[in-house]
Amino acid sequence: MKNELFEKIGIMGGTFDPIHYGHLVAAEGARCHFGLDMVFFVPAARPPHKGDRYISHPSHRLDMTILATGSNPRFQVSDVEIRRSGPSYTIDTVFHFARSWPGALIYFITGADAILEILTWHRVEELLDMCSFIAATRPGYRLENLAGSLQGLPSRYIEKISVMEVPALAISSTDIRERVKKGMPIKYLLPEKVEEYLYSKELYI
Ligand code: NAP
Repeated sequence: MKNELFEKIGIMGGTFDPIHYGHLVAAEGARCHFGLDMVFFVPAARPPHKGDRYISHPSHRLDMTILATGSNPRFQVSDVEIRRSGPSYTIDTVFHFARSWPGALIYFITGADAILEILTWHRVEELLDMCSFIAATRPGYRLENLAGSLQGLPSRYIEKISVMEVPALAISSTDIRERVKKGMPIKYLLPEKVEEYLYSKELYI
């Protein structure tokens, strides 16, 4: 795959605990809208700001992401953050893809709530020099939150952050975990293979 010529690539960053249809719709929407040749899903091993909140083992989140994306030839899964030790800094991941596809334009796709805190991210200005950001929002998302949190960033960086409303992001990983815990149905919120996987591994109970 490394020899394939990609002019524009997407990096879909997230914890994916579990991955659901909102993530898949967001990635496909970004791929089509921005003309991306490939979207790489990159489950974070240890998201830098997560502190002590329990998250499922990276191998489960990686397996679920592989199961969810398998039917789309324009989606790939990368374990680069899981293989790397230490916190999953996005700058290291973007460097990894920039080295693999020199000259390709890179778009980092993630939830708008994560991007709200971008000013606190590791080496943020260098990161914004290297890639553009796509902030996927849930229905009813208050855009002024994002605008407020970006105040203080030079305009050349603000221009590199696009907002994309994704109605399917009414689905959330938190809600799915809570539903499983309460014994409520999760059918049609995520791919069947992921549903089967998380029950078979007794995740979120
Ligand atoms: P999070 O805090 O778990 O999620 C924040 C919100 O964004 C949640 O509502 C979440 O919904 C949504 N979301 C997360 N990933 C998404 C995606 N790919 N598409 C659409 N919505 C998404 O965020 P996180 O997963 O820990 O972090 C997101 C990404 O930012 C990761 O790749 C992380 O490594 C990166 N990050 C980097 C730094 C840094 O470099 N210093 C700091 C913070 C985050 P769901 O729960 O439904 O997914």
